[in-house]
Amino acid sequence: MKKGILIIGAGGVSRVATHKCAINIETFEKITLASRTIAKCEMIQTEIKERHNVNIDVACVDADDIPSLIKLIQIVNPKQVLNVALPYQDLTIMDACIATGVDYVDTANYEHPDEAKFEYKEQWAKHEDFKKANINGLLGSGFDPGVTGVFCAYAAKHYFDEIHYIDIMDCNAGDHGYPFATNFNPEINLREVSSNGRYWEEGSWIETKPLEIKIDHDYPEVGVKPSYLLYHEELESLCKNIKGIKRIRFFMTFGESYIQHMNCLQNVGMLGIKEVEHKGQKIIPIEFLATLLPDPASLGERTVGKTNIGCICEGIKDGVKKKIYIYNICDHQECYKETGAQAVSYTTGVPAMIGSKLLYNGTWKNKGVFNIEEFDPDPFMEELTTQGLPWKIIEID
Ligand code: NDP
Repeated sequence: MKKGILIIGAGGVSRVATHKCAINIETFEKITLASRTIAKCEMIQTEIKERHNVNIDVACVDADDIPSLIKLIQIVNPKQVLNVALPYQDLTIMDACIATGVDYVDTANYEHPDEAKFEYKEQWAKHEDFKKANINGLLGSGFDPGVTGVFCAYAAKHYFDEIHYIDIMDCNAGDHGYPFATNFNPEINLREVSSNGRYWEEGSWIETKPLEIKIDHDYPEVGVKPSYLLYHEELESLCKNIKGIKRIRFFMTFGESYIQHMNCLQNVGMLGIKEVEHKGQKIIPIEFLATLLPDPASLGERTVGKTNIGCICEGIKDGVKKKIYIYNICDHQECYKETGAQAVSYTTGVPAMIGSKLLYNGTWKNKGVFNIEEFDPDPFMEELTTQGLPWKIIEID
């Protein structure tokens, strides 16, 4: 009989998700952590034994290779796979889950390695195959996407008849002390931030230049921070799944130093994703840059300050206009004390475990491929408060 969870990827997000699965071992029964570099799995395995006295198994796998994935899944025989490798591996891991009849969860939508573009199209196209294989697929169970979708679904269920406007506000006011570093995988992060912005209004997408739209926003318990409009993947599913929506946007804070470095790197071609020849060797500039930058998984110890991520929803309830702000605040050092990771990994890894838990214990079930806001938000909101990410709701205006 299928039993346990197979976690693929052993970076910053995985470290938190695996710790949290170990804390919830009564649900997950058995944990196997597999990644390309087995030493990273073993490091997490040792930490988990020391901190939680839970034994987990480790394995080596190249998740770009479907036959290797299928072989591993057949040996481990898990009930569910949690994909916390990179977005490039989403499709191969989904195909391996279809072939083996195992449920699938991830935290980021598929990204084309050769094009700075991410979209749900290829993952949604697997809906019928998931149904035929009689398996559940939960897409985007991180914070954004993830908790932001749950916040919107919760607001829609309990606070509004119709939500007309949503602004997702993502603030990382943490300081790691480096002139320049990224809080999650550098390649994925820089591709996202240096791309054109985009938001959805009245049925169509409006494109902006990278970081063209800037507002000053007052984040509760953090303060006023410059926030830039970005395209973010949950916009693609929320504009379909939230009833009555007229406009949805996403804003993220960046410090001056981050933007100066990013612009400079962009200007000299270091964010390029096409191969260039260097002294007879072929290199991809952004991959080389990622090698030079600090490993995001190593930032935990030195990062201080807070994150505040939330959704401002505006709409109608019983014929009256209403506006609410739902948000979570997370402290980098508290996260580090608990899991050895900073808050960006923590705010992603905790919801990755919660989505996995709700699927694993059958609270959420639906055969096919679904985005997180399509499930009942209430059990997820309850888990957030007990698993380390409590939230607040305030009415504004
Ligand atoms: P890291 O770069 O720290 O870790 C990625 C891990 O995946 C590494 O262990 C890496 O192995 C492994 N990996 C990469 N390629 C393969 C492969 N072909 N086969 C097996 N393992 C592989 O990334 P993060 O932990 O920062 O991010 C993990 C995921 O979380 C990403 O998809 C990211 O986009 C997503 N994310 C989602 C957020 C959200 O809120 N929804 C926020 C932040 C991140 P190796 O060490 O050998 O390279």
